Amino acid sequence: MSSLFVSDLHLSHERRDKVDLFVKILARVQEQKISLYILGDLFDLWLGDDDDAYPNKEIVEALGNASRDGASIYVALGNRDFLFREVFKRKTGARVLDDYTVIELNSEKTLLTHGDLLCTRDIAYQKFRRVVRNPLFSAFFLALPLKWRKKIGGKTREKTQNSTQMKTNSIMDVDHQTVLSVMGKYDTSLLIHGHTHRPGTHVFELNNAPARRIVLGDWYSQGLMLLCSDDGEKSLTAEEFLA
Ligand code: MN
Repeated sequence: MSSLFVSDLHLSHERRDKVDLFVKILARVQEQKISLYILGDLFDLWLGDDDDAYPNKEIVEALGNASRDGASIYVALGNRDFLFREVFKRKTGARVLDDYTVIELNSEKTLLTHGDLLCTRDIAYQKFRRVVRNPLFSAFFLALPLKWRKKIGGKTREKTQNSTQMKTNSIMDVDHQTVLSVMGKYDTSLLIHGHTHRPGTHVFELNNAPARRIVLGDWYSQGLMLLCSDDGEKSLTAEEFLA
């Protein structure tokens, strides 16, 4: 049984080639009954389950087809698409993961998360996150007309992009102490996340034992994914996976 991990696809109408690529991947996932873990920011911006504009509807349908045909699909909430609600879950058949979720991967306890919670040195972002992830705030936002949400969403994205450019590289990355404490808390030796768009594998020591942190890449450029099968894990591009 194989598991495929992807993150930060940031699908939008601006990048139709990536939408097509992901739909092809879903067809393969469906065919081979692979467990697919989407670790956040599948969409560049999700403003509510009632937004059927391209590529939302297309992706939701493709996810639904794959799960109805027996593939297991798990979705973590990213900072761009944390507003998935019941309609999304029903139509896609996807299971939404908790902020931190522990799974067993080749009998190794593995922690999954989007990754934004680990960037604890970005205090301004963590404050912003607490506000927008507050259930009352989200409920209020989702009750606004879609047109307004699009306006606010677009403005917020612009603002975030501007402030991101001002922040140093180290603020934007995960905090190693936070990684150690969270992995320790959940008693895991492997952590898989995205969000930082800095793909790679980091090996370190945790409670006198080797531990690993695998960072998935984004789909703006490289489109790296992680495939885990009985004979271990390997990083590969979407094209390599389809080949
Ligand atoms: Mn993110």
